[in-house]
Amino acid sequence: MRGCIAAMKIKVLKFGGSSLASGAGFLRVKHIVDSEDARCFIVVSAPGKRYKSDVKVTDLLLASKEDATAFERAADRFKAIALELAAVGGVGGATAADAVKAALEEICAGLSADPTEAYLASRGEYLSAVMMAALLARPFVDAAEIIAFSEDGVPDDTRTVATARHILSSHKTAVIPGFYGSDTNGNIHTFSRGGSDITGSLVAAAVQADIYENWTDVSGVYDRDPQNCPDARRYHYISYEDMRRLAGAGAAVLHPAALDPVQQAGIPIRIRNSFRPSDEGTLISDGNSEEFFK
Ligand code: ADP
Ligand code: ASP
Ligand code: MG
Repeated sequence: MRGCIAAMKIKVLKFGGSSLASGAGFLRVKHIVDSEDARCFIVVSAPGKRYKSDVKVTDLLLASKEDATAFERAADRFKAIALELAAVGGVGGATAADAVKAALEEICAGLSADPTEAYLASRGEYLSAVMMAALLARPFVDAAEIIAFSEDGVPDDTRTVATARHILSSHKTAVIPGFYGSDTNGNIHTFSRGGSDITGSLVAAAVQADIYENWTDVSGVYDRDPQNCPDARRYHYISYEDMRRLAGAGAAVLHPAALDPVQQAGIPIRIRNSFRPSDEGTLISDGNSEEFFK
């Protein structure tokens, strides 16, 4: 791993479940992260769908409170990724496979204690980050330490930014699970679905990043869902306000609550495609979006 030094740019990267659905996805992420020294703080989601009828790991974990086989299926997703990494991921891949195996055993041992639904749902991001930290040979920082919620599960952005800034100031680089945090009693809470985008934004605000790169499975923000509309037009640039409107109208590419922390801190977001890393993506910042279609 190349080091991240204080005077250089700081980039926070968030990889969604669509980018982490397989061992090949994890290796694509490694390539992206290692290709720039400034890519210091990495936020990861739980593995998403590999194909249209597949089930996201988070959905399996949410079902596992009622259906023990659902937890087994979630665990199998991680074991399959670990096998792929051990086979083709070199030393980092083998270490990642060992790390996720140990973490899965620890979680399984605690299942008899009737964990909460939020705790179970959060384990997808936890396991992804444990595995990614080992693959990248970078430190793991648990979101439970830096993302703050009230006891009734309301996100506390002010406390998060202060705590995350303090804890991450002693890290040049880290891998952090998305989607969840904890209250002052140590109980786990999650954001709403798609909430790893919010974790990335809060981490970016906390470390005063130069940019928040949000890596997904499409090459930016379009005027319509590009997976359903082949003639959708990509924004080269879009303002925070127009992005808020699009996200509020259902554009799942970015959680609307991810806009506030970076907008308040004056940090731009770039939406990028982990399957096509040389595509420029879409920049989200202040200004007027209108003439910026490409
Ligand atoms: P991730 O797993 O990276 O968080 P998501 O599935 O949450 O990814 O978001 C990416 C998806 O958002 C794309 O695959 C696309 O189908 C969908 N999407 C919906 N509306 C838009 C839009 N206007 N522009 C881009 N993507 C969109
Ligand atoms: N894994 C969570 C979900 O499926 C959070 C996220 O992907 O951002 O909603
Ligand atoms: Mg998403």
